[in-house]
Amino acid sequence: MNTNRKILFIVALMLIGLAVATITNVALNFREYGYSNAIEKSKMTAEIVRDGLTAHMVNGIMDKRQFFLSNIANIKDVQSLWIVRSDNVIAQHGEGLQNEHPRDTIDRQVLKEGKIVSKVRENSQNAILRVTIPYIASAYGSPNCLSCHNAKEGDVLGAISMEFNINDIRQTGALTIAKIFAINVLFIFIALWVTHYYFKPYMKLFENLQQGIKRARTGDFSFRFTTTLKDGGNEVAEQMNTLFEKMDETFGGIKHDLGTFMSSSNISCSDPLNTAGTIIKELSDVYKFKKTIELDGSKDAIYDRFIYVLKEKFHFDHFALYEVDKITKTRRLVYITDHKSFCAPMVDHDATECRAYRTHSDVYSTDFPNICQNCSVHDKEYTCVPFNINDDLALTLSYSTKETQTIELFNQKLPTIKNYFEAAKAVIESQTLMDKLRDSSLRDGATKLYNRRFMEEFIDKSAEQALRSNISYSILMIDIDYFKMVNDTYGHDSGDIVIKSLAEILQSTVRKADLPIRYGGEEFLIFLHNTTREGALVVAQKIRTQFAAKKYQFGNDSVEKTLSIGISHFPSDADSIWKVIKFADIALYEAKHSGRNQVVEFESKMFKSGNNY
Ligand code: GH3
Ligand code: MG
Ligand code: MG
Repeated sequence: MNTNRKILFIVALMLIGLAVATITNVALNFREYGYSNAIEKSKMTAEIVRDGLTAHMVNGIMDKRQFFLSNIANIKDVQSLWIVRSDNVIAQHGEGLQNEHPRDTIDRQVLKEGKIVSKVRENSQNAILRVTIPYIASAYGSPNCLSCHNAKEGDVLGAISMEFNINDIRQTGALTIAKIFAINVLFIFIALWVTHYYFKPYMKLFENLQQGIKRARTGDFSFRFTTTLKDGGNEVAEQMNTLFEKMDETFGGIKHDLGTFMSSSNISCSDPLNTAGTIIKELSDVYKFKKTIELDGSKDAIYDRFIYVLKEKFHFDHFALYEVDKITKTRRLVYITDHKSFCAPMVDHDATECRAYRTHSDVYSTDFPNICQNCSVHDKEYTCVPFNINDDLALTLSYSTKETQTIELFNQKLPTIKNYFEAAKAVIESQTLMDKLRDSSLRDGATKLYNRRFMEEFIDKSAEQALRSNISYSILMIDIDYFKMVNDTYGHDSGDIVIKSLAEILQSTVRKADLPIRYGGEEFLIFLHNTTREGALVVAQKIRTQFAAKKYQFGNDSVEKTLSIGISHFPSDADSIWKVIKFADIALYEAKHSGRNQVVEFESKMFKSGNNY
């Protein structure tokens, strides 16, 4: 039921209640008035009869009384009239006429008690009021009753009974009630019509306000209020319209402005207020992230922070982050949640094999089955996303889920994730520059290889990451045999030439993912990335033979040099990288002592018997 109908219903109910109360009151009063009127009439008649009978008595014509009584009985509305004698009048004056005996119990009761009795007898056709009034003996009236009657003051001398037809009163009452009822019905209709006419525009405005506010709750302030009211109602509608116009303008502006900060896919049309709240929260989170990474000391610390965001904020549970060197086109695994790789191994050596990196666009397995030929997670849905940092560097993010529905939920989060990358871009760029500057202090000036300081700074972190990412390293410790002799015979510069030429051999022999280090003097370390024991031996032998084949012309002499190599493996030989370096050193010592110009792989027995180390 709408509000207008509700009001009409309540008004109608109140008016009907009022009408019923009025009609009931009138009906009761009317009946009461009719009865009392008839009783008064009968009292008057009783007095006339008493005075008439007394006159008959005084004049000695008491035997003519019946004529008098019959005439009285002809008064309008009197149906019947009779008198009765009390016992003491009978005792003094005899039984009287035949019709003067008590006719019923009412007559007898009145003679006995001396009090008026009235009673109504009615049915659907007739209504009769019976009144019986006693005549009480009194010495104070005129004439004095006691002068003729042998009675005491207050004795009942007789009674008069009358029956009145009160049909007319009843009919008049019913007619009056019907008129009141008709007037009430008319009044109710007029009152309802006036109420409806007066309240309708207010109700319309109220419904209008309801509609507008309902739409405003969903962020739509385009609703405009209308009313036919001229007074305060019109003012309310105008003020609401002004308010809505302002809101529309302000929120439209906010939505547009937010669109410049966030990806438009994040701004839904359904509830811009809610969306604005979400976007402001996102912006604040991204801002906090940016402020935090600005204080981070290295690129890897930023990557760690980003990994944390992916895990904790976006709840990614299977993902990998890769760093692509755009110059060498190689790819480095920064982080992977489990030990399964996302891509075929060749992608690490040739980043152009990565579809996301090559096409500069997001790769969705949901778009096309087997969309990336080099993906190794065929039983799952996956998405790969490239992020360009600068001319040298790019990142790729890969994530996977078992269900299509879940990956779609993650894909919806991508615009926000990209906002984090956008925020991190400048910081990663400046960090890369810092890394480059720092790199110069971490490289050996003569050979351009990383120096021992570099190794000491980064080795622990690399080892940790290697353990997390299931990466292994084979470590080669290299030392030139009888090098002092070169210095001593041909001079220090000639020695430097030999050292540089060995560094070149090392760089040309190993892959990009491997790491050669000038450990000290004419000693070198190589970290071979994810290489088998056999593979590491092959590389070591290659270095050894290439160096041995090299001829140096110092003055007239053609000089050849050899080198010895010790090999150990991380983490299979020990889970501490420093221990594994020590083991490589032990193996090198073994190579030197068992004749030089050879490669020796570390065995645990060397360590146990190695009192010399
Ligand atoms: P071994 O076969 O036992 O290794 O004999 P070795 O003569 O090579 O002995 P060792 O490795 O101890 O000799 C290292 C020498 O290398 C000592 C040092 O004079 C020389 N050396 C260290 N750094 C440089 C350098 O930068 N340039 C030159 N020319 N010589 C260096
Ligand atoms: Mg040496
Ligand atoms: Mg040495």
